[in-house]
Amino acid sequence: MTKFIFVAGGVISGVGKGVATASIGKILQSKGFRVSAAKIDPYINVDAGTLNPLEHGEVFVTSDGTECDQDIGNYERFLDQDFGSANYLTTGRVYQAVINRERNLGYNGKTVEVVLHIPEEVISRLQLAAEKDKADFLLVEVGGTVGDYQNLLFLEAARMMKRRMPDQVLFVLVTYLPVPENIGEMKTKPTQHAVRALNSAGIQPDIIIARAKVPVDKPRKQKISDFCNVDADDVISAPDVASIYEIPINFENDNLGNRILKKFGLEQREKDLKEWEKLVKKIQAPKETVHIGIVGKYFEIGDFTLMDSYLSVIESIKHAAWANGREPKITWLSAEQYEKNSGALQELKQYDGIIVPGGFGIRGIEGKIKAIQFCREKKIPYFGLCLGMQLAVIEFARNVCGLKDATSTEFVKDSKTPVIDVMPDQKVLLEEKRYGGTMRLGAYPCKVNKKTIAYRAYGKEDIVERHRHRYELNNKYREVLASKGMVMSGVNAERDLVEIAELKEHPFFLGTQFHPELQSRPLRPHPLFREFIKACVTKRSH
Ligand code: GLN
Repeated sequence: MTKFIFVAGGVISGVGKGVATASIGKILQSKGFRVSAAKIDPYINVDAGTLNPLEHGEVFVTSDGTECDQDIGNYERFLDQDFGSANYLTTGRVYQAVINRERNLGYNGKTVEVVLHIPEEVISRLQLAAEKDKADFLLVEVGGTVGDYQNLLFLEAARMMKRRMPDQVLFVLVTYLPVPENIGEMKTKPTQHAVRALNSAGIQPDIIIARAKVPVDKPRKQKISDFCNVDADDVISAPDVASIYEIPINFENDNLGNRILKKFGLEQREKDLKEWEKLVKKIQAPKETVHIGIVGKYFEIGDFTLMDSYLSVIESIKHAAWANGREPKITWLSAEQYEKNSGALQELKQYDGIIVPGGFGIRGIEGKIKAIQFCREKKIPYFGLCLGMQLAVIEFARNVCGLKDATSTEFVKDSKTPVIDVMPDQKVLLEEKRYGGTMRLGAYPCKVNKKTIAYRAYGKEDIVERHRHRYELNNKYREVLASKGMVMSGVNAERDLVEIAELKEHPFFLGTQFHPELQSRPLRPHPLFREFIKACVTKRSH
């Protein structure tokens, strides 16, 4: 019988619910249980695919092609497991299913109502996810903050599950305890209010994870215990950490795993977090840096720089840097500055390597192309991810093959030199404005050619990588690109699509049509990122 652990957030958004959820999963997994996780997003969007990354962060893509929340990426990285559509719920998905069923007479003429039909649909979806993954524990992260209007029906579903199977459901509240500078003391009041808000939804938290700048001390644990109806031992200290990968270990310092087992009436179990602890030691060890510049456009909101849009890219760089014994340092470079001022390109020399990640639309394109040209000519290691690969092809076509107006039909619809062109099946979808969930999505096989950088990295010919794009390298230009030295080092055989392109006589110049960052795991860095960082490190030591 699966046990369900609901994780909700209180006080503020962004307290790290996703990572807390993933960490609880990691601990239970380390005790030998089968763990799965589900994310509930309270928005009406059916999936994250149409959301502006500046608003909601990265769109993560699973193997089965679900465009979902970045937290699914956290679950995959922590648990080293693949998830999919069944592990992702949104208000939109739930309502869409209920409405479709009603239209098909699936409710036999009954009046279909928000309560109970919506929570019932949520419950049955969670149960399906648990069954699919044959989970001993299903962690369910409820998006938003308690007290929000948007997630009430999900909390209602959770409350109903607890009533129906009291021994199989547990509630964790992740809250935030501020330490206002002028007071200099950690305050528990917002947490008390968050618990009240949860209580008013009919839910009593069993465990409170207390996020704060510093560890929560005994008197405050006691205070939370007194005011919030939990044992002081069930208040888990969660101070800020340098690396998110320390969190499972921190939770275990407060004995979280066995507290959970106890609440479910299960026997206490030893954990095996040895590999994980080794990783954390490696992360904490002092070491030289490797400095990577990311040329992108989804990171400036007002006066703040947000890194969420490229979360998996950042994590992949970290995994690979640690594997190469380096401390990663990442700098955000705005593509548009290179359009206004070519002189600014000189700054690229300061970096050990440059990445152009995925992206959509024409803004910033010419700046990125200039940056890529600079990397190619000055032999700075370059790694292009999806759009970054397409732009590397465009740059090469323009400046090496002499195809001066080479571009992608994403930017110039009726281009005479479309070296990157829309896939034929995608053309129809775009014309009919069918944008949602219709890109080339999810995992596809790719054949890697021997004697290439890609083969050196992977060490094998058959790989599977995840995609999210509508455009691709136009096969009409393959010959001319190849004749000037571009190597098509990976191809999808079924549709004859170029998936990896690279250049010789360069420390590292490679682009992938797929998104390797989606499959990098802390204990298994992605081979291409590992190889890229290796080249960055080698270049610097010359
Ligand atoms: N906009 C490009 C395409 O649709 C690249 C997409 C991406 O970088 N994910 O093909």
